[in-house]
Amino acid sequence: MGTQTNKKKFSAFRPLLENERQELVERLAEFGEGGNDLNYDSNFADSSQVTAERGEVDRLILELKDALVLVDSALDKLQNGTYGVCENCSKEIPPARLEAKPSARYCIECASKVKSVAKK
Ligand SMILES: [Zn+2]
Repeated sequence: MGTQTNKKKFSAFRPLLENERQELVERLAEFGEGGNDLNYDSNFADSSQVTAERGEVDRLILELKDALVLVDSALDKLQNGTYGVCENCSKEIPPARLEAKPSARYCIECASKVKSVAKK
């Protein structure tokens, strides 16, 4: 498959990815996450309750950042014509999967394999 064909074939996913990216950036901004560093309000009380809540926020922020990395890399792949190919087995990712998750890096089969190996 040529690069141009790939680009044309998946061009419909670009606005989806850009929307998703925008959403993630806005949600991160709500947490005060404009950049790459985690900065906390120094007014946070140092109680265990707050620590637990902070852990929740931490996890959410990390999830949002992970998702953002995936979306960015999908946009890169759209740009260089490697979008829609599984990063693990190099097979094409089924369009139905991409429609459900435009930032998917793996085909369904590999996604379940990768998930069971690398538990977060
Ligand atoms: Zn695969």
